[in-house]
Amino acid sequence: MASSSDTTTTESTDVLVLGSGIAGICAAIEAAEAGAKVIVLEGASGPGGASAQSGGEIYLGGGTSTQQAVGMDDSTEAMKAFLTAALGPNADEEKIEAYCDGAIEHHDWLLAHGLEFRHEVWDEPTWMPSTEVGLMWMGERAKPFSDLARPAARGHRPPQGMFAGETLMARLLATAEKAGIDIRTEIKTRTLVRESGDPAAPVCGVIATHFGEQLEFRAGAVIIATGGFVDNERMLEQWAPQQVGKGKVTDGHSDGSGIEMAMRVGAAVRRMHQTETALPVAAPLVTNGLLVDGGGRRFINEDRYPGLYSHAAVHHRPAPTWIIVDEDIVDAVPETELWGMRPTHVAETIEELARDCGLPERGLADTLAEYNADAEAGEDRAFGKESRFLKPLTSPYGAYPTGNGMRKGLMGSESMPQGFTLGGLHTDLDSRVLDLAGEPIAGLYAAGRATHGLHGEGYISGTSLGDGSFFGRRAGRNAAKESVHE
Ligand SMILES: Cc1cc2nc3c(=O)[nH]c(=O)nc-3n(C[C@H](O)[C@H](O)[C@H](O)COP(=O)(O)OP(=O)(O)OC[C@H]3O[C@@H](n4cnc5c(N)ncnc54)[C@H](O)[C@@H]3O)c2cc1C
Repeated sequence: MASSSDTTTTESTDVLVLGSGIAGICAAIEAAEAGAKVIVLEGASGPGGASAQSGGEIYLGGGTSTQQAVGMDDSTEAMKAFLTAALGPNADEEKIEAYCDGAIEHHDWLLAHGLEFRHEVWDEPTWMPSTEVGLMWMGERAKPFSDLARPAARGHRPPQGMFAGETLMARLLATAEKAGIDIRTEIKTRTLVRESGDPAAPVCGVIATHFGEQLEFRAGAVIIATGGFVDNERMLEQWAPQQVGKGKVTDGHSDGSGIEMAMRVGAAVRRMHQTETALPVAAPLVTNGLLVDGGGRRFINEDRYPGLYSHAAVHHRPAPTWIIVDEDIVDAVPETELWGMRPTHVAETIEELARDCGLPERGLADTLAEYNADAEAGEDRAFGKESRFLKPLTSPYGAYPTGNGMRKGLMGSESMPQGFTLGGLHTDLDSRVLDLAGEPIAGLYAAGRATHGLHGEGYISGTSLGDGSFFGRRAGRNAAKESVHE
């Protein structure tokens, strides 16, 4: 920890935001609108962070105007019930409650600050729609969730095919610019500063570097929005070893520096072991086919949100995981949704396919026989996959590898499961950073993947950009309140 007297003060502001992803920019906009002078320090050469490279999906519901425009009925209670189940076990129920209660207002705020969600729904399970649709399903209709809460499509996204995060952040950054927010790039924050170096004194600024030059910024309050730690191997070893050696869903700057900076001034962390997991698969192949583990057995309904079956496959099943299909399934998937995937094995019999894939012949043959019988009967008795995705598979059969336990290089650079971290600084519902005793650290706020989110073991797309923007706004508002004195 540094004391404010160690270096020369170069600049002062009311609110200092560290990181210019969705959490930082939403925090900055709220703080500026509350009357604070705001500086954002960004370590990379441009703003936007991982948020700008993302799918741009934001999980919102309860009856937003976008949902209403497409005739989608929803309620806050249904949204809460779905998220609590899908993000669990051990989801943060307090944060989910606050997030769902504020979802309609948050949706309207995003629209008022430059975003747009087209009034069109993507109807099939997918990671990312290839068109500009504004609304998508995130597995709400899949079992067991459809029994727990009335399903509604809640994935809101800006108008861009695939990686809509670019449009998302371009719009929010344009709003920030209009609000007069000063965003400085290539300034990496290194240390938090406390008044007079007293460990109980409020945080009052940071020490940062710009190409080797040391700078000090003083502020009434500091907001950490520096993202997660998937790019920091040492932190992964320490906190989330299951992610070591796996692919990274990141912009390359999720180095955990903000989390560790705050820990050095006494901040507590939470749920550091939780990670998002993604198998590199084209979702329609999985949804309409069979997902099997190393024993050749199905283990989940394939119409769930892809992150949930990825997590189950990678963390809870014997490797490798394969997608088993037939010709009709492949022919029905438009080329744009296949993402270049080709089956690595095709065979006339299921036993031959099993041998080629290195799967137990009996295991896979039994699985297919059971699945086909259920499909004929129109009911997936094992896992409850929706009947519209159930069709008996016929010869010839094909198999797609998923990256779980696969030989490296089989699918080029995308041959492994990938992910990002979900744990981080312990924050309360006002986005204050808490110490080991659960007390707020004066002058210090945080949001986004630098904090623990709504998540327990599960992850649904849209909840990272969602909680980052939502609690980022709270950080901005409260930091402005703490730092601006009439
Ligand atoms: C390909 C991809 C697709 C995704 N799709 C979705 C999706 O559709 N929906 C969803 O909810 N989530 C999605 N995610 C996850 C989501 O994008 C991130 O979890 C989220 O953007 C994190 O937001 P953030 O503001 O916390 O951090 P970031 O957006 O990563 O921003 C943090 C910023 O802080 C900067 N920084 C870091 N350390 C310092 C420092 N010490 N000093 C100064 N600056 C620093 C970084 O350079 C970065 O610009 C996706 C991620 C990727 C990579």
